[in-house]
Amino acid sequence: MELQSVTLPGVDAGRPMVIAGPCSAESEEQVLETARELASYGVRVFRAGIWKPRTKPGGFEGVGVKGLAWLKHVRTETGMYTAVEVATKDHVFEALKAGVDILWIGARTTVNPFAVQEIADALRGTDMPVLIKNPVNPDLELWIGAIQRVYGAGVRRIAAVHRGFSSHAKKTYRNPPLWNIPIELRRRIPNLPIFCDPSHIGGKREYVAPLSQQAMDLNFDGLLIETHCHPDAALSDAGQQITPEALDHLISMLVIRNASRPSETLSELRLRIDQVDEQILELLSERMRISREIGTYKKENNMPVLQSTRYSELMDQRSQLGTSMELDPEFVKEILKEIHEESVRQQILIMSK
Ligand code: PEP
Ligand code: MN
Repeated sequence: MELQSVTLPGVDAGRPMVIAGPCSAESEEQVLETARELASYGVRVFRAGIWKPRTKPGGFEGVGVKGLAWLKHVRTETGMYTAVEVATKDHVFEALKAGVDILWIGARTTVNPFAVQEIADALRGTDMPVLIKNPVNPDLELWIGAIQRVYGAGVRRIAAVHRGFSSHAKKTYRNPPLWNIPIELRRRIPNLPIFCDPSHIGGKREYVAPLSQQAMDLNFDGLLIETHCHPDAALSDAGQQITPEALDHLISMLVIRNASRPSETLSELRLRIDQVDEQILELLSERMRISREIGTYKKENNMPVLQSTRYSELMDQRSQLGTSMELDPEFVKEILKEIHEESVRQQILIMSK
C-alpha cells in the first residue's frame, strides 16, 4: 500500500496531531462553544458525531443531518477542519455535500466488511481523508481489510485509530488497549499514521492523560480526544469527556520523546510488558471470581472443595498447553499450583461463611 505519509488537513504539524471535540453534536450552542474554546487553544481539527452508534436503542442517537450545518458554522467561524463519523453511504454523501473535511469509520462499522465496502464505494473518486478505527474485536486482519477496502477505492489519505477492544471481563478500562496490535499494524503498513483515542479506551476522564502519554511513548502520531464545553452534561459518553482547558493542559504536559533514540524501543517493550501484566491480573481476578462461584455451588450442593481427579487432569492439560506455547513446563506447573492453591483458599472461605 502506497500511502502518503501524513497529509491529513490541519493535522500535519508535528506530533501529536490532535483532533478534539464532543462525542456528539448536541446543539449548535454546544458545538460552537466547544469549537471556539478549542480553537483558542490552537486545536485545528474538530470532531463531533452526528450519527451515533449506540449499544442499545432508545438513547440519544445523534442529531443527524442538521448537525452538519453546525459543523459548517464551526469551519467558517473558527477556521478549524471538521470530522464526522460515517457508517453508511448516505452518511458519506451528506458529509461530502456539507463540506466536512475528514471522515472516520467507527469501531462498530470496521467489523463489517459490507458496511466498509459500501462506504469505500461511496468515497470512490473523492479525495477525502479517512480515519479507520480498529474493529471492536482484536482482529488485526479485519482492521487491515477495512483499510484495504478504503484504499482500494482510491483513497490515499488514510489514518488508523486505536480505540481499544471491547471485552467481557470486568476491567479497569472501558475498551482495554492491546498496544501490540497497532504496533504490528505499523510494521505491516509503515507509512500509515496511527492515532490513539484514549477517551474510548479509558471510558473515564482520569485515564485520558496517562493513556495519551502511553500512546506518545509508543510513537503514535496523533490523539483523538473527546472534548465538551460541559462534559458532565453531555448526552453521550459524559464520563470520558474533558473540557477544552483540560485538553490544553493535557497536551502541554505530554512528554514527546525523540522517536529515533534507541531507548524508545526499550520503553515500547516496557509498556507492552505493563500491558500484559495488567491483562494477567485482570484474568486472575476473573479466575478467582469463577472459583468463588464454584465454591458457592459446591456449598449449596454439599460437595467437598477438593476433587483430586479433576485437579490432576487440569494440571496435565494445562502444562501440555503451556509447553505448546513455548513455556517451560516447570514454570507452568509452579504458576498453576499457586493459582490452584489460591482458588482452593477462596472456596474454603466461601464454605466457612
Ligand atoms: C466515537 O468516536 O464517538 C465513537 C463512537 O467511537 P468508537 O467507534 O471508537 O466506539
Ligand atoms: Mn463517544
